[in-house]
Amino acid sequence: MADTVVTGVRSLLRSVRAVMAGHGNAQKRLDELVKVIAAEMVAEVCTVYVMRAGEVLELFATQGLNRSAVHQTRLRVDEGLIGHIAAHARVLNLADAQSHPSFAYRPETGEEIYHSFLGVPIVRGGRVRGVLAIQNKVKRQYTEEEIEALEMIVVVLAELIAGGDLVSPGEQMRSEGNAILPTRLTGIQINAGTAMGIAVLHQPRVAIPQMFADDPEAEERRLMTAVASMQEAIEDLFSATELSDGGEHHDVLETYRLVARDAGWLRRLREAIASGLAAEAAVQKVHDDIQARMHMAATPYLRERLHDFEDLANRLLHHLGGVSRAAAMEDLPEDVVLLARNMGPAELLDYEPRRLRALLLEEGSATSHVAIVARALNIPVVGRITDLLTRIDPRDPVIVDGDHSQVFVRPGEDIQQMVSDTMRAREERRLLYAAMRTEPAITRDGVRVSLNLNAGFLIDVQQLEDTGAEGIGLFRSEIPFMVRSELPSVEAQTELYNRVLELADNRPVMFRTLDIGGDKQLPYFHDAGDQNPNMGWRAIRVGLDRPSMLRQQLRALIHAARGRDLAVMFPMVSEVAEFQAARSILDIELAREQKRGGVLPKQLRVGVMLEVPGLMWQLRPLLSRIDFLSVGSNDLFQFLFASDRGNPRVADRYDVLSPGLLSLLRQLVVACDAANVPLSLCGEMAGKPVEAMTLIGLGFRTISMPPAQVGAVRAMVRSLDAGALGAYLDTLVDLPDHSLRRKLASYAKDHGILTEDS
Ligand code: PEP
Ligand code: MG
Repeated sequence: MADTVVTGVRSLLRSVRAVMAGHGNAQKRLDELVKVIAAEMVAEVCTVYVMRAGEVLELFATQGLNRSAVHQTRLRVDEGLIGHIAAHARVLNLADAQSHPSFAYRPETGEEIYHSFLGVPIVRGGRVRGVLAIQNKVKRQYTEEEIEALEMIVVVLAELIAGGDLVSPGEQMRSEGNAILPTRLTGIQINAGTAMGIAVLHQPRVAIPQMFADDPEAEERRLMTAVASMQEAIEDLFSATELSDGGEHHDVLETYRLVARDAGWLRRLREAIASGLAAEAAVQKVHDDIQARMHMAATPYLRERLHDFEDLANRLLHHLGGVSRAAAMEDLPEDVVLLARNMGPAELLDYEPRRLRALLLEEGSATSHVAIVARALNIPVVGRITDLLTRIDPRDPVIVDGDHSQVFVRPGEDIQQMVSDTMRAREERRLLYAAMRTEPAITRDGVRVSLNLNAGFLIDVQQLEDTGAEGIGLFRSEIPFMVRSELPSVEAQTELYNRVLELADNRPVMFRTLDIGGDKQLPYFHDAGDQNPNMGWRAIRVGLDRPSMLRQQLRALIHAARGRDLAVMFPMVSEVAEFQAARSILDIELAREQKRGGVLPKQLRVGVMLEVPGLMWQLRPLLSRIDFLSVGSNDLFQFLFASDRGNPRVADRYDVLSPGLLSLLRQLVVACDAANVPLSLCGEMAGKPVEAMTLIGLGFRTISMPPAQVGAVRAMVRSLDAGALGAYLDTLVDLPDHSLRRKLASYAKDHGILTEDS
């Protein structure tokens, strides 16, 4: 069935593409398109209405209705079903169109004999440009697949209309009045936080004034002067006080600084000038060459370099033209929400940090270099927003909700009000939590809970002070590896881990050894091409197969600890034998250090992350060999339910508060208590108040979470009676329910437990 649908959609798209590639003006193509869509969708009617000046929708093409009505029938926005769709920018799927309150009968079209109706708005840049509709005589509801097919077609129609042949661009501008609709876009969270501001499109492009020059020597002098002034400007930019604290962004910017001095790049620029090009044209040409080469091998590392070169080329063009970037930034709004497909880290610094409210990217990931600098500047960032640049126009008001990975564009007053209320409430809570940070996390019945942080960047470790957390319950050591351009040496790793331990200032830090593979690929490490990377060659499997990498990391950890306490845990251990193998590699490194006369850690604790359910059946031999166990509930959950955590179609299908997972966790608590092995949990669930409450009810006494969540969890702990909840949970875990969330949330409410998110 699904295959037939896919084939149907493909055939429709093929036919549409053929029409678009064919001859004829836009009106002719539109006439052809309605025919093709009607035929492929087996619809008796297919119509396209286009928005004209004055908020009027005009019938531009039809298959099935009276042709004489084309360019005659006009509907106001909100008039009839078509107007209703345009007004609300929403799909309308009706089995009996005539019974809908908005139905408006137009005798000239002859449409009264059709019952079912499916209409889809044609939206571009957040504005409704028209409506596409199909109709059938039989009464039926159209399927999801049919809706999806039309939603794909309207993208093509939007481009056809934007082309300006059907309705002139001037008229399209005039028709933009009320039809500017609020839109909500979603992406992935790169940096949390909320902000409001005005959209500013990052436009690095500079026009090339002339292609050729008669005097190559004079051009080379111009080039070298521009290079010198550019390098000086970069130094100034990087010395900005906002970035003075240590952190990964220093490495990122240092790499950029080296690229700006890259001898090969400068040589190629000079060669292009020697061949007769003007300096600007030479910069462009060399950049085009680099881009062509790098695009072919687009690893994350090369993508970052490509941004760097693109940024440098544009920067150099500005300097050649005698305009500094700063001058071009002058008439920016006070509250800038910056939009870009992607950008290099230094480009972000061109914007005055005081005005920069948020960053939105069409691409981007948590470890992209621009994201790291944005994090250092403490602004919210949402990435992977599909078609961002066509859906937000410059100067649009925008609200960025980094916490929920969403963006409100041209928000209505109600949303603005709601978001500013939320922001205010959140700020109040933040202040309250900050004031509470020194209060102990002890429940009302006297149970002490250790709250810890999950960290990956140094900036997270710095949060220990602000959150009052007891230690770092999970240091994701692969993160610093992911932002670098090459495998860090033992010395570089030692320096980093030493910095972590210094910042932690005698608080415990659980260093997890590299968890690469799966969704965490290293730019300079060939991915294994796994079909199912989460269950593939990752984490400890890579460590055991490439022992030198694991040994180097363990060596660096031992060096960094140097007489201090050290805690190491191995990720994704599936069987005790695997732990044994990893542990013996650690022992080799300890022996090596001892032989060299080095200083060993004062106290060494070695643990395992429980992420693979299979290990549950080896608890006895495992617990007798380890110093602590930490549940990686993100992975454990996905493997327990065979439900990919990165796949939005199934990610929310099961709930962590299901009886299954909770009884597993309860068994684990019992086993660890009996064996006297400290147990903690460091997946995302530990940072959510209702989930954290449940964990404490089950007997967890140590949990680790993202820094932003500590305040809310502390408030929850202090309002909880752990014993009473434990007794209640005993009555729940054997229920056949899909989830216990509602019951637990009601319990919290009835017992005055604070479970508000931060
Ligand atoms: C987990 O799986 O719960 C965990 C903490 O590890 P990560 O999210 O880094 O895979
Ligand atoms: Mg994990």
